[in-house]
Amino acid sequence: MQGFNRYYPPDYDPKKHRTLNDYHGKHALGDRARKIDQGILITRFELPFNIWCGTCNAHIGMGVRYNAEKRKVGMYYTTPIFAFRCKCHLCSGWFEIQTDPKNTRYVVTSGARQKDEEWNPEEAGGYAIHENDPSKAGPIDPLAQVEKTAESSRYAREVGAPRIESLQELSETYNADPYELSKRVRKQFREDKKIEKRKREDDDSFKDKYALPSTLKLVDEADIREEASTKWAQERGEWEVLERSKRRRTMAEMGRAPKQDGTLATSLLSGALKRQDPFLSAGSKPLKPSISGIIKKPRG
Ligand SMILES: [Zn+2]
Repeated sequence: MQGFNRYYPPDYDPKKHRTLNDYHGKHALGDRARKIDQGILITRFELPFNIWCGTCNAHIGMGVRYNAEKRKVGMYYTTPIFAFRCKCHLCSGWFEIQTDPKNTRYVVTSGARQKDEEWNPEEAGGYAIHENDPSKAGPIDPLAQVEKTAESSRYAREVGAPRIESLQELSETYNADPYELSKRVRKQFREDKKIEKRKREDDDSFKDKYALPSTLKLVDEADIREEASTKWAQERGEWEVLERSKRRRTMAEMGRAPKQDGTLATSLLSGALKRQDPFLSAGSKPLKPSISGIIKKPRG
């Protein structure tokens, strides 16, 4: 009997019996594991195809289920091959079915005959789907083969070889004189460390002088200056853009948008103004309204 009810008897010692199954001397899978010492587990197995029993010659349909003795009989690469030994329900004769990982099938090994109902592409004039032998595979298309090799050799010549050469060069420069490289790096590191140390000492003395808390972060004056200058440059740029657009609008209103400004809106606006101008058709110069703030340059 399996330990279903989790009752721990008074003489149960967790050090001696790790589980209740151990205490009762039972396997976790119960009666199904009664032949586990022979490497056999009882499982429910369903017939994957129609067979004829070898003992009573009766037909047994696909899908009939048996309490089969499952055991491992070998390996196909890393996939175990299992055998299922079943007792015929009509005559009590035994038959055995194995897995076939190579062809992803089941095969009857003894005690029965399989009804051959598999679709065989070879019989129908095609090629086998599960063909692992390259000599039995279909003929190779010679043109495709040539194209494949030509493409791969071109790739190797134009992409692969230069890449390998550049990688080799890089590797050689790094490995030519490791001592010199290391020396240079360490020298730089030492200098940086000295600067850092001096800065820290300055900060500490400043904090001591003004009795500031030691955790206070001091900001470098150069940093503040740089930040301010970048902010100024940014705002200046925005202002310039604004001014330029304002100027362009004024020019368009005056009907003489600058030549280099080729936006659709300004060209449409200037065209409309020209057509409305009564003095243009008369051949005289268009009148330019004077706007305060814009100084006309004398032409000469
Ligand atoms: Zn039978």
